[in-house]
Amino acid sequence: MAEVIVFTDLDGTLLDHKSYGVRAALPAIDLLVRRGIPIIPVTSKTAAETRPWVKLLTLEGPFICENGCGVVIPAGCLKGRPEGAVEEDGEWRISLGAGIGEARRGLEELSEMAGFSYRSFGQMSADELSSLTGLAGKELDQCLAREYEEPFIILEEHDADFIGKKAAEKGFHLSKRGRFYHLTSGCHKGEAVKILANLYREELSDPFFVGIGDSFNDLPMFNSVDMPFLVQKPDGTYDPLVPEDAACRVSGVGPRGWRAAVEKVMTLG
Ligand SMILES: [Mg+2]
Repeated sequence: MAEVIVFTDLDGTLLDHKSYGVRAALPAIDLLVRRGIPIIPVTSKTAAETRPWVKLLTLEGPFICENGCGVVIPAGCLKGRPEGAVEEDGEWRISLGAGIGEARRGLEELSEMAGFSYRSFGQMSADELSSLTGLAGKELDQCLAREYEEPFIILEEHDADFIGKKAAEKGFHLSKRGRFYHLTSGCHKGEAVKILANLYREELSDPFFVGIGDSFNDLPMFNSVDMPFLVQKPDGTYDPLVPEDAACRVSGVGPRGWRAAVEKVMTLG
């Protein structure tokens, strides 16, 4: 029988879009944990933001942070240390993205090339960040512990497509989540998922990879798994940027859809 491994987006998928509640998915999480099926978060959150969720949900395994830029594996969780992994504080880290310093320098250059002014996380005061993100205290600190991606806002009217093209010319990738743009050095969720999937292939005889997400930035993950699922947005729609044939659309918003996806996988035996 195939050994299932579940890769999952967090915000808007396993966690409710607004409340970050996970209750609707709990029966399915319990079922997977009891059967020893790994649930691997694949998120745009920082490692510092993700660790408390991993602990709370008793997942104990690897996770992927900052939109695929970092793969974090508890040391010893897999048999051998993966190639290129650096050990730090009991974790093996594979970095696919360039560091935050390079992303900040890239942003500076991009703003000159494409002619826009910006304000980035690295430039903002704690008060400014708090009012923009709604985060405070420990949560704000965890969000600020960025290692790869630099979120920023553009201060004037602009042509996002033009800026995206200029970013690509420089080897960067520009994406938008909520009101923030993110500049990364070309990594995405799919590449990170492939690395972990290959590590599991070395350990298991017949692994079967599931991916669950809610939006376009999950598409590279969908393309890297055996069975991708798309959950509904809070208004009941599916992200129109995810092609029909890219993922199986399940009924249920966020964690409710997550549960439905897991139930569907479990019926496969
Ligand atoms: Mg999401």
